[in-house]
Amino acid sequence: MRATLEHIPSYQAGKRPIDREDLVSYKVSSNENPYPPLPQVLAAIADAATQANRYPDPAATDLVEAIARYHGVSTHHIALGTGAVALCYQFAHCVCDPGDEVIFAWRSFEAYPIVARVTGATSVPVPLTATYQHDLAAMAAAITDRTRLIFVCSPNNPTGTVVSAQEFDEFLAVVPTDVLIVLDEAYIEFNQDPAAVSGLRIYEERPNVAVLRTFSKAYGLAGLRVGYAIAPVSIVTALKKTALPFGVSNVAQAAAIASLADDVELFERVDAIVAERDRVTGALRAEGLPVSQSQANFIWLASGPDAERHARLLEESGLTVRLFPHEGIRITIAEPPANTRLIAQASQLHPQD
Ligand SMILES: *Cc1c(COP(=O)(O)O)cnc(C)c1O
Repeated sequence: MRATLEHIPSYQAGKRPIDREDLVSYKVSSNENPYPPLPQVLAAIADAATQANRYPDPAATDLVEAIARYHGVSTHHIALGTGAVALCYQFAHCVCDPGDEVIFAWRSFEAYPIVARVTGATSVPVPLTATYQHDLAAMAAAITDRTRLIFVCSPNNPTGTVVSAQEFDEFLAVVPTDVLIVLDEAYIEFNQDPAAVSGLRIYEERPNVAVLRTFSKAYGLAGLRVGYAIAPVSIVTALKKTALPFGVSNVAQAAAIASLADDVELFERVDAIVAERDRVTGALRAEGLPVSQSQANFIWLASGPDAERHARLLEESGLTVRLFPHEGIRITIAEPPANTRLIAQASQLHPQD
């Protein structure tokens, strides 16, 4: 095995809910959409499944056209991947040789250090600020002549915080144009902060910015594995070279097309999740708990040294959360009864005295 594999941390998938007869449990550990696919999406899936003996369209022509139309961009600016996480690997394969450096905020998406390592590159994690924001000035200062790739995650997983458009502009002004910046917008559909950066407005003017989107979160298709990048042609061309051939299944393509074609109900669900997020955040803050203002479909409770105890307590109440030992817990906003259960536990989530 390559020596670099020894340094790759194993990806921690969200825990499954505990199985108990006396209690309905909720998996609120993976930022999944709690709602199953809409009927028209299920119908598209069933229809596509009848062609499962055939390879999918490797260029995913119809889906690429649907995404291009949806966002008002050229099809030449779109690259698909088997989930946005696959595109994270592809970005690294496009630009990193062993010894190169990949900068990202920390804590942020756990895939970033893994994808850096797989290519033999070195991770350069830059701590978030005290308010759990990206410290873009520190990230810019961390750039060296080995820096090839920078991930910026907005809203950030797991803290939910966003990068502002102004901060991002200032950052772009100082990052050399031969360093690739990936703006990971996996949760952008849940954002309600008008000051937040929007990659769609930016990538066109920049040769080195790619925007990353996914159907896994707001669109509720996590199980089908489809995401995309919107980027300048040179980046799209490189992404296609590093893609898994026939990676995005025809079922996933059909489901994504059906989701884009009729997204009114989908976005009513997103609005409902956002309203629930604000209800939970308000209630936990009223209890005096350290909850950051999330613009995503999860909240971050900065439990610090109490994180393990809090996660265990919530698990016993039927909520399986994502634990970051000694730092905090990330709790997905799920169906209302799960959120109400969380609020009911709030008084138990104080620091131990
Ligand atoms: C969930 C997530 C993704 C990717 O999800 P896929 O299911 O691979 O599309 C990408 N970035 C962040 C920050 C995420 O949380």
